[in-house]
Parts: sequence; structure tokens; C-alpha cells
Amino acid sequence: MTGQGPRILLVEDEVSIAEPFARVLAREGFVPTVAGTAAEALDAFERVAPDLVLLDLALPDGDGRDVCRELRSRSDVPVIMVTARGTEIDRIVGLELGADDYVVKPFSGAEVVARIRAVLRRTGRGTAATGSEPVTIGPVAIDPAARRAQLGEDELELSRKEFDLLVDLMRHAGTVVTREDLMARVWDENWFGSTKTLDVHVGWLRRKLGDDPAAPRFIHTIRGVGFRFATPEELDPSA
Ligand code: CA
Repeated sequence: MTGQGPRILLVEDEVSIAEPFARVLAREGFVPTVAGTAAEALDAFERVAPDLVLLDLALPDGDGRDVCRELRSRSDVPVIMVTARGTEIDRIVGLELGADDYVVKPFSGAEVVARIRAVLRRTGRGTAATGSEPVTIGPVAIDPAARRAQLGEDELELSRKEFDLLVDLMRHAGTVVTREDLMARVWDENWFGSTKTLDVHVGWLRRKLGDDPAAPRFIHTIRGVGFRFATPEELDPSA
């Protein structure tokens, strides 16, 4: 398991919706990419090969319905349409265009995350680690639903922040997670100022994992950027 969540292409020109919702998706274990126009959407689609597209219908350079048709001509990627209430589309038209589901604005993040999970499940996409699925990398195993973490046979006693930090790092194993992203996801999306508290918690987490900061096995410091959790291959060269 790589620890990478399903990739979601979020096509939405309203920054006040796109930005907070992208943060919600990231926090829920998805990997969001935001596109603000129809042209950007098609470009991003080729670039990131998303597991699901969340598609706003009213875009500054075109109609989301045309984007949906174009996506359908290229792939069977699941599409959830986003409409303004009663003005743009009804369910029948959306489904005729090949959308898998639709949501009406204004929506709650929790509602759309639930729809995304349901569509991914139904279409058999994005089966990599998502929000609550257990992840094991080398001797470290986490079960987010039960909030349990183990090192080998030993149960790890982690604080809430240490646990969330470990989950985030393990979900992104092998890639660098920036200090800013960790602060936003594990602490508060509206944090500002110092990231010193992050270093303190990483220090505690390393101690509990028996990780030597000078020669870490699990949590590597990428100077000036952030942290990277080791891959299964790094932890077990014979795997
Ligand atoms: Ca719009």
C-alpha cells in the first residue's frame, strides 16, 4: 500500500468554494487538484489522471456539460456534477450526460465527501488508503477508524496530534509533506505563525517510534520543506 489516497479533480471557478473544499478533501485522505476553467479541467485531467471528477456546471469559459461530454469521450472516470439549485440542470439531464451523481449548491463538505466515497465504492475506483482505512508500512501499522497504532507487536500510546500526524505522514509515504500542509491538516486550516509546535510533536512521535533524528528510519526531515515517511521498500529491502 502506497498510502496515497484517491485523486480528485475539483473543477470549480469560485475560489471561496474550491479552496476550503480542497482542504477538506486533503484532510479526508484524498489528493485534490483544483481547476478553475473548462480548459484547465481538461488539461488537469490528462495530467493527474483523477479517480473522480467533481464538476461545476457554470464555468467562466464554458459549460460543464460540454466538459462532461468530453471527459466521457476520453474515459469512464466517475463524474459528480455540481449545480446551483434549480437553475442549471436536473437529475435526468445530468445522468443522460453520463454523470454518476450530482450535488446541489450550497453543499456541506461532509455531504460531498460521503457522495465521493459512495461513487468510488460503486465504481470500484480509488481503492488505495482513504480516510479510515488501515495502513501498514514496515513494522508500523495504523487503524484510523479505531485510532490505534502499533510498532511491531507493541501498541503505541499516541496523543491525538501525534496520531493525526502519523496518519498524514503514512498516507503520503514516500513523498514529502510540507510543514504548511501538516499544520493546515493536523492543526487548523487557519493556522498562522510558527510551525515550532510541529517540530515538537514530530520529536515526540519519533521518540515513541524509537526513531533516531540523526539517522531516522521512519520520519525523514527534508530541510526547509517538511517531512517524508519511509516507503515499505526502504523499511524492508527484501520486500
Ligand atoms: Ca461556477
